[in-house]
Amino acid sequence: MSRIVMKFGGTSVADLDRIRNVARRVRKEVEAGNQVAVVVSAMAGTTDQLVKWVEDASPLHDAREYDTVVAAGEQITSGLLALTLQNMDIPARSWLGWQVPFKTDDVHGAARISEIDTTAMRERLEEGVVCVMAGFQGIADDNRITTLGRGGSDTSAVALAAALEADRCDIYTDVEGVFTTDPRIVPKARKLEKITYEEMLEMASLGAKVLQTRSVAMAMNHGVRVQVLSSFTDTPGTLVVDEDEIVEKQVVSGIAYANNEARITLVGVDNTPGIAGEVFSPLADGNINVDMIIQNESEDGLKTDITFTVPQGDVEKAIKILENASSLKYERLVSDKNVVKISVIGVGMRSHAGVAATMFQTLADKGINIQVISTSEIKISVLIDSEYTELAVRALHTAYGLDGA
Ligand code: ADP
Ligand code: ASP
Ligand code: MG
Repeated sequence: MSRIVMKFGGTSVADLDRIRNVARRVRKEVEAGNQVAVVVSAMAGTTDQLVKWVEDASPLHDAREYDTVVAAGEQITSGLLALTLQNMDIPARSWLGWQVPFKTDDVHGAARISEIDTTAMRERLEEGVVCVMAGFQGIADDNRITTLGRGGSDTSAVALAAALEADRCDIYTDVEGVFTTDPRIVPKARKLEKITYEEMLEMASLGAKVLQTRSVAMAMNHGVRVQVLSSFTDTPGTLVVDEDEIVEKQVVSGIAYANNEARITLVGVDNTPGIAGEVFSPLADGNINVDMIIQNESEDGLKTDITFTVPQGDVEKAIKILENASSLKYERLVSDKNVVKISVIGVGMRSHAGVAATMFQTLADKGINIQVISTSEIKISVLIDSEYTELAVRALHTAYGLDGA
């Protein structure tokens, strides 16, 4: 007998019919003799609606009340799935985050899990009860409801699997697994049988929303066996595994894109020692996350241009901070939200040269200008005009030999 965690995303629980479909999948696992804990998201679209209500009610809202509102979607689906299972004569009960309890810090809207006490849930599992937990939510030390950030039910599921020492954590979604790139924009994307934790971590943090980044980090740290699969078909999904489980290492195994960054360029900055610090320290003090950076010198060496990217939602704040930085001298500030970061990812890059050259040549052949470049051990990212997102991803997908039939 195994103990498993099954997680169902928003599309999989979008209405009662789909919740019945989920219940049938849960029944199969129960009938196979497994102890089953289920983690559910809110119905598709619900969290977006709740966020919008909060923003309409109060643009500069109290983050604690934001969490009270947006955590509500998961309460509904956990109760509905428990009811549906009971109607199939399967013993089931719902658990809200605070009832587990699923303890977190108090960073509302992006809380981190600190401790999960599974004593009560383990007792129920041993009695054969299906435990349906509301994903995305937890409770802080001061007893306020918290949420784990958008897409956070993935993290709830992996964390629960780690705490329950589950044998498997199956993440059911609306695609058949992790693909070489987003199958919604590249029809030739191929499903991967396996992907390493490291690659998945890069893919997620570089924009592939199929798993929340934190869930992958947690799975890696706790050795949780994660499988991503479809709740609508019976095909095997993608296993997220250690690097040594992958026999043939691809040079590039995936391509991701993220269109939530914006570019800022400071033109004609006085080129004196310490200038980068003068630009980036006040941004850091303002809690603005800077991602890609380039600095280039003019021929005479007296002036420099500094270009970098920040989250789109922080552009106005970043500009204000730079304009108020009294000691910083520059000629012009230019910003652009119509940019996308395209990344190619693969553990095989460690031992292969020429991956970057292929990327640059492919984009050049399509007439796409690269604005910023950044690299790390297993990925290369470029910033380009967002108008070319699909063209660039498709061309790179072909260039690295990733196209399926
Ligand atoms: P859920 O509601 O089940 O959590 P999400 O919408 O959060 O589902 O994540 C699934 C989506 O992730 C897919 O519909 C797909 O468009 C997108 N996606 C982006 N990149 C990838 C990728 N490399 N492989 C699979 N899906 C991807
Ligand atoms: N419902 C939450 C969201 O839409 C959490 C999740 O689905 O993972 O972000
Ligand atoms: Mg998701």
